[in-house]
Amino acid sequence: MFELLDLAEEHGAEQVALTADPETGLRAIVAIHSTVLGPGMGGTRFMPYPSERDALLDVLRLSRGMTYKHAACANELGGGKAVIIGDPTTIRADATRSRALFTAYGQLVDRLGGRYLTAEDVGTTQADMDLLHGVTPYVTGTSESLGGSGDPSPATAWGVLHAMHGVAERLWGAPSLEGRHVAVSGTGKVGADLARHLAAAGARLTVADVRSDVVAAVATEVGAQIVAAGEIHRVECDLFSPCALGAVLSEATIPELGCAAVCGCANNQLATDEDGERLERAGVLYAPDYIVNAGGVINIAEETAPGGYDHDRAWQRVTTIHDTVLRVFALADEHGVTPAVAADRLAEQRLQGTSQLKSS
Ligand code: NAD
Repeated sequence: MFELLDLAEEHGAEQVALTADPETGLRAIVAIHSTVLGPGMGGTRFMPYPSERDALLDVLRLSRGMTYKHAACANELGGGKAVIIGDPTTIRADATRSRALFTAYGQLVDRLGGRYLTAEDVGTTQADMDLLHGVTPYVTGTSESLGGSGDPSPATAWGVLHAMHGVAERLWGAPSLEGRHVAVSGTGKVGADLARHLAAAGARLTVADVRSDVVAAVATEVGAQIVAAGEIHRVECDLFSPCALGAVLSEATIPELGCAAVCGCANNQLATDEDGERLERAGVLYAPDYIVNAGGVINIAEETAPGGYDHDRAWQRVTTIHDTVLRVFALADEHGVTPAVAADRLAEQRLQGTSQLKSS
């Protein structure tokens, strides 16, 4: 057996589609992890990889993550993800070449006949999704003028706010964030919007970002204090909200945390699986990242709802993250496991329930 097939089997992928198109230079992999709940949906990552094996591992791991994320937030979607292997800066420098490459990529997505729905991810933009829309109907996150839901970041921030209300309810018996001190690491698209919502909710804010001009503008707007990016996790506060990079919760940082709970949008916040237990031992409540940051995919899933995308309905559904966070904490209590493990169990329960329904 080829190594490719071994890796696909190890990651439980339903299907892997590969393309190497000599005419446009497109080299892409689409991984569909599960269509139990609906078509496999997840973004297209466009970046150079050290090897094809690294690209394959990345897309297999990410598509599995999408299955869990959609399942836990009750989307009628399965897990999928795609990678285009190449250097976006070089390729995008030639507009004709870039257009041809994305057109060929759209044809690959189209040939999958709706088993995979794509979206924007690292290295791809809303403009790319708009271009794909001219090639295949199986694309989400296009501009609102094309019937899409646009940039998912505002919905993601809205979801993090509601996750924080859930955390507040769990810790302090009421959802209010008034007077609570929140430390936000990363004031980019999601972090800045979150800071605005928190200021409106009466929270006290401390913010950090490696881009000093960006953090200064946000801090002035919301009346926040600024600390250095390397210091923010140490701030004595109620909630620490990682909204920048992954792997921020590790053997090194967890003993230094000054918060009661962690609740942020960054993907893959735990450096290792053991860090979930480390947080528990440190007495810090962890709201699992993929539950907290599901607002973007809940918003996108509404594009496939009967009647098409409706902003108000979508944003109302995003607020259900509050209940999902509380359900994860309750499951963790019931099973005597960490919230990170409980989040996976919640997703697995929904997947198993749906497969049993389909087979009965
Ligand atoms: P972004 O690039 O707009 O913002 C990230 C910010 O973090 C930038 O301002 C950057 O300067 C800052 N930053 C980088 N390194 C830092 C560090 N070491 N310390 C402090 N700040 C640092 O990205 P975004 O769209 O706001 O997403 C933020 C995180 O949330 C990412 O991990 C992303 O994968 C995840 N996420 C985003 C969405 C979404 O809808 N945008 C959805 C789910 C998950």
